[in-house]
Amino acid sequence: MDVGKIPEGKYTADKTIDANGNVVMPGLINAHHHLYSTFARGFSPPGEPATNFQEILEKLWWKLDLALNEEDVYYSALIAIMHAARAGCTTIIDHHASPSCADGSLDLIEEVFREVGLSGCLCYEVSDRNKKGERIEENERFAKKCEASDDHQMSALFGMHALMTLGTETLERCADVGHGLGIGFHVHVAESEDDLQVTFKKYQRRVMDRFLEFGLLGEKPIFVHGIHFEAREMDLLKSSDSMLVNNPESNMNNGLSVTPILEMLQRGVTVGLGTDGMSSHMISQARAMYLLQRTYRRDPRVAFVESAEILLKNNRKICNRVFKEPRGLLERGYLADIIIPEYVPFTPP
Ligand SMILES: [Zn+2]
Repeated sequence: MDVGKIPEGKYTADKTIDANGNVVMPGLINAHHHLYSTFARGFSPPGEPATNFQEILEKLWWKLDLALNEEDVYYSALIAIMHAARAGCTTIIDHHASPSCADGSLDLIEEVFREVGLSGCLCYEVSDRNKKGERIEENERFAKKCEASDDHQMSALFGMHALMTLGTETLERCADVGHGLGIGFHVHVAESEDDLQVTFKKYQRRVMDRFLEFGLLGEKPIFVHGIHFEAREMDLLKSSDSMLVNNPESNMNNGLSVTPILEMLQRGVTVGLGTDGMSSHMISQARAMYLLQRTYRRDPRVAFVESAEILLKNNRKICNRVFKEPRGLLERGYLADIIIPEYVPFTPP
């Protein structure tokens, strides 16, 4: 991208857009999504409704992802990525699971990103829930493919579900392979109390101590949720320069608690924003973020500016750690991912 007064004749264009009077801004970035969740919308699992998070996983998500075939993976991604494009989002960091058709599933999703023209950072969710260390190879294969690619539209992280479904042997293998590839990890943490309780009962560790034990903290890993962190765990995020992604609509939908993002920001933690499969709409997610924080803190003064900064600055920072091409700013040398959203102000500017 080039910006400012351009010398005549430097570029030619097939199409020129006159955006005078409109808002022109960098494309939005989604720092945590589950494209495979698309067909869960409006769907209620048979039987008694889930009463807690573990039951939501067992009755809905772990049945849905097991049922996905290749066509489902493709169309789930296509619908969600098209929605993202229409909502001004140009880059998505995704976390995928489809155990019945895992091999090559990340290639199918890549195909959709290329068809629609968005950028994607992909990973496969390793866990021990169906088979020990399931699909470590899919992460490894896709990361190597991205590294060898001539363009940088796609990138890779090493995906893991959460500590409550990852045993010691699997964590060791994930750490070995991920570190060998030189990529970061993308994992849920402290989303519900179950994650803490299982980890403490089995290993006598707090969740972030368990990640620390395997060398999984650092500037590239993305930790998702962090609802039940104690102060020391937030300090660990900061001291290791690790990133934390908040997903308020998903947390509310699951009847969970609230991530203390304002406390994390005060400590200097890089807090980002994702949709966690709820939608592909980042503006509505940012709106939910500040409204939920105001409710949580019972303070109408907080979180509006923070939410905007998280959406526009922190997500850019996160994304620029996992993609080779800089994006998220209207500056020379950055990707020309530009959006011109419709904006009719209620009061004259
Ligand atoms: Zn998630």
